[in-house]
Amino acid sequence: MKRVDLLSLDAAQMEGLVRDLGWPRYRAAQLLQWIYQKRVRDFSGMTNLGKTDRERLERHAVIHRMDWTRHLTSSDGTEKFLFRLSDGQEIESVLIPGDEAGDPSADRRLTLCLSTQVGCTLDCRFCLTGTMGLIRNLKAHEIVDQVLELQRAGRRMTNFVMMGMGEPLANYNEVVEAIGRLTAPRMLALSPRRITVSTSGLVPQIHRLGKSGLKMNLAVSLNATTDAVRDRIMPEVNRLYPIKALMAACRGYHSATRRKLFFEYVLLSGVNDSGDDARRLTGLLRGIPSKVNLIPFNEFPDSPFRRPDDGVVLKFQKILMEAGITTFIRKSRGSDILAACGQLRTEAKPGDAPIIPIKTQAVKI
Ligand code: SF4
Repeated sequence: MKRVDLLSLDAAQMEGLVRDLGWPRYRAAQLLQWIYQKRVRDFSGMTNLGKTDRERLERHAVIHRMDWTRHLTSSDGTEKFLFRLSDGQEIESVLIPGDEAGDPSADRRLTLCLSTQVGCTLDCRFCLTGTMGLIRNLKAHEIVDQVLELQRAGRRMTNFVMMGMGEPLANYNEVVEAIGRLTAPRMLALSPRRITVSTSGLVPQIHRLGKSGLKMNLAVSLNATTDAVRDRIMPEVNRLYPIKALMAACRGYHSATRRKLFFEYVLLSGVNDSGDDARRLTGLLRGIPSKVNLIPFNEFPDSPFRRPDDGVVLKFQKILMEAGITTFIRKSRGSDILAACGQLRTEAKPGDAPIIPIKTQAVKI
């Protein structure tokens, strides 16, 4: 008989297992507490279960936690963890101390950047993950276990961003289930305001999320103010959902949720960092309560883009601020260990064809 992975069960399924074992209902709450709040990795630690019950549970179930196989620490304190999944695939999670320059609360902040897919279909040209193609979606429990394992290791994270490997909204159901587990009082009980989902702009899913009732933050990785530029740097997503449709979805999301939106804007030297770009951006955001994070490009080996000079970045920020838009410049973190934004990539295992093949020809900009 195949044993069920307790970590893969949602609350209702856990109650079903407890019922099948003929146990009282409160035992499901106890198991959830052991898994999500005490973060045990085996049954011997479940001390409020008798020995016979623990042995019985062990015959029916396992707890399949992920292990990290590599841990790198950057000179600026950023940490990168390479997690091995049960099928041998690998994902990266990044812990970032502080974050936004100029944000007074940044000192106390420890942000965990979570992966939601192994690789990504979208092939944004400034992103190393995009060069992998999509190997597979993560399950909800694999997203959540990145949090549990780092909590077990004593890291006190304050913020959680789904901005690691993958496009979260392309894995919509598992991401929504993961948010449910992260915020459920009987599970991790995190405040949804501490969780941010970052999308490259999947319009139907933004509409769906707006109607979902979930209260986490939404960040949109915009990165261009004209379709001509966005087609060059985010070709897959912009051909499907050009800027006009994306901004309409953002307006709809705000109308449905009354929540402020976050916009990420990777600044690429000579591509999208001009004064005209900044002014067009203020126009696009008009009427959407928003906060902008400017991310000066983190160069990676063979990348076709360059990072703009600091003066250009500051000028861009000034134009947005003068238009009344709260704008932070994201400090580059962990670039010496390829942990910075857009620098995450693991090697696919032999024989793993990406679901969507990656382009192999040189990228022409
Ligand atoms: S930026 Fe995000 S959506 Fe684009 S390729 Fe990278 S991981 Fe995928």
